[in-house]
Amino acid sequence: MKIKVAKCAGFCFGVKRAINIAENALKELKNEEKIYSLGAIIHNPQVVEGLLKKGLQVISGLETIKGGTIIISSHGAPVEILKEIKKKKIKLIDATCPFVKYAQNIVKGLKKDGYRIIIVGDSAHPEVKALKSIAGKDKLSEKIGVISQTTQNRADYINAIKKILEEDFSEVKIFNTICNDTSKRQSATRSLLKDCDLMIVIGGKNSANTRRLWQICKESGVVSFHIETELELKKKWFKGKNCVGITSGASTPDSMVGKVVEMIKRFTRDKGRE
Ligand code: SF4
Repeated sequence: MKIKVAKCAGFCFGVKRAINIAENALKELKNEEKIYSLGAIIHNPQVVEGLLKKGLQVISGLETIKGGTIIISSHGAPVEILKEIKKKKIKLIDATCPFVKYAQNIVKGLKKDGYRIIIVGDSAHPEVKALKSIAGKDKLSEKIGVISQTTQNRADYINAIKKILEEDFSEVKIFNTICNDTSKRQSATRSLLKDCDLMIVIGGKNSANTRRLWQICKESGVVSFHIETELELKKKWFKGKNCVGITSGASTPDSMVGKVVEMIKRFTRDKGRE
């Protein structure tokens, strides 16, 4: 059985950057100081667990904290939260991914120019929540500005744009805010689907971009499993398969991709778990 790993497996640029920022801040942590992240700094429970061991504290709101430092995650934070941080005089370290910042700046510009803003994405995702907070109240305007969540599935974004164009708006401005890494990861996954009869998608169950990769795999009809770690693999998945493709979300470390490959190799040699 062949094992093929997608070209873009492992951490993306924005996630690597956010983890480096957090690790550097944690290295400089003095005795009484506290460093918080508002929600998970990246959507990978195992990586977040490693940062917790180094002293990071994950909080869900600002109510309980008085001082210290807050790291804004790679997904960005809503305007109200940033205002509250400033008001409470909490030190802020911004690890928002530059691709997310780019999308935020587009929303700011559209708002200033009087456009009604449509964000195509998962409304419960922190990145979209932050974008919505910048866009503010829905404005009735004939001028429409459309952007997507940075990790949106390209095909879904195109379908949404088609629907918007069917409406009778006087002007529609469309921005491609899907980040390069997401586009490359989705293409690399599609190209594996041509050769493989089994796909393993590695990444946090709470990771939007990983779930989209899994959705692409499932829609292709190829048997696909979404796992977070190598311990979830089962030997029976590989019986009678010729080629297994491995792809991963943007917040999956290279080391985890390596562990999954090793476990699959082991399965072809010994009994492993059934
Ligand atoms: S997936 Fe793209 S937008 Fe998201 S953190 Fe990575 S590089 Fe940035």
